[in-house]
Amino acid sequence: MPLTGIEIFKLLPKTNCGECGVPTCLAFAMQLAAGKAQLSACPYVSEEAKAKLEEAAAPPITPVTIGVGDRALKVGGETVMFRHEKRFDNPPGFAILISDAMDESEIDSRLERFSQFQYERVGLTLRPELVAVKDESGDAAKFETLVNKVKQNSDGGIILISSNPDVLAAGLKACAERKPLIYAATEDNVARVADLAKENSCPVAVRASNLEELTQLTTKLTEAGVKDIVLDSGSRTLRQAFEDQVIIRSAALNKKFRPLGFPTIVFPCEMTDDPMKEAVIASIFVAKYGGIIVLSDFQGHSLFPLLVERMNIYTDPQRPLATTEGIYEIGSPDENSPVLITSNFSLTYFIVSGEIEASKVSSRLLVKDTEGLSVMTAWAAGKFVADAIAPFVKKSGIGDMVKHHKLIIPGYAAAESGGLEEELPGWEILIGPREGSHIPAYLKTWKT
Ligand code: SF4
Repeated sequence: MPLTGIEIFKLLPKTNCGECGVPTCLAFAMQLAAGKAQLSACPYVSEEAKAKLEEAAAPPITPVTIGVGDRALKVGGETVMFRHEKRFDNPPGFAILISDAMDESEIDSRLERFSQFQYERVGLTLRPELVAVKDESGDAAKFETLVNKVKQNSDGGIILISSNPDVLAAGLKACAERKPLIYAATEDNVARVADLAKENSCPVAVRASNLEELTQLTTKLTEAGVKDIVLDSGSRTLRQAFEDQVIIRSAALNKKFRPLGFPTIVFPCEMTDDPMKEAVIASIFVAKYGGIIVLSDFQGHSLFPLLVERMNIYTDPQRPLATTEGIYEIGSPDENSPVLITSNFSLTYFIVSGEIEASKVSSRLLVKDTEGLSVMTAWAAGKFVADAIAPFVKKSGIGDMVKHHKLIIPGYAAAESGGLEEELPGWEILIGPREGSHIPAYLKTWKT
């Protein structure tokens, strides 16, 4: 059982030196008990106390890493139920399913889709992380050959799926150095799979038929010395699997129940045969609380929204994504090129700059710091109004870069044009389009 805050406090030095970042040992003890601080933050804990505190200091949901290097995926490690409390830290990984019962051309096309589906969005690259290799033939040699192929043709993490430890061992022979996730330890094979996980230092997933059995299996694995565990409650209906996710997260965070304090794996691919329904189910587990989401296949029209949803859910809701204030040159602008201005909400910046680029009219884009708010919100909040824009335009030095002194403002801020002409003597204020998609046509009419 984890220790309470008071029990932890009794083991701390009680000097209240504040070096851990909080003013008192009691406050630090309470943070440790809530899983919101690391024991290493206190330099004065005795070795004896350290051993006792280890359990209390461990994160309530163990972080688990699958894969190695730049493409390694870390899941788990969350400390809150809801993202308004604190941002979610480790986004779930998306896996594409490849089976040794598929023909070569199907396998090749899935591996190609895995590598090709990458999207640029607000300066980030969005892409899936994992290939789930499933044994359906029961043939260890065939499975090993397929795992080898996946290893050579993809740089992502690998999940080895079989209930037969001999087949799993063959898969591990092919890719152990890539630290795959071994799926799965079950009631029938738990001891053997635990040995495989330890011998190869790989994380292991546990599959049970209900939460009670799941608890027993994780307890067996941890007693056997396996620390990196991923949970599959075995439910394959949306309702039951969703309930399981919530119960597991709540047990780990609210009850500090260690046997369920691990990230989860979910299988929308086994919950429906309808690809669109599968994408909708996957989207639910992005929000609550899938750690790894296995899809039957990747299609751009369903994968892209899932990647964007994941990015949004795992963005700090208290801090909008913002671009640095300044002048951005697009193309090769000269002294006659257009000058536009927008807010520094990243999505706005990337849409506007993308549309300017698409117009092929070299331009300068002024990005005004609006604390990450979009144009309309910033305007309503008084952060994108004449009084705020004019000093920025003057200070930016844009007046020395162009001859024409014409400034294109977003259509949604048209009400500021009069104020800006007063605040910026010598500048002509032009009202640009409301929608980013109309910028190319607008710029094509540009004349100095
Ligand atoms: Fe107490 Fe250690 Fe924090 Fe100092 S650093 S206040 S001794 S818990």
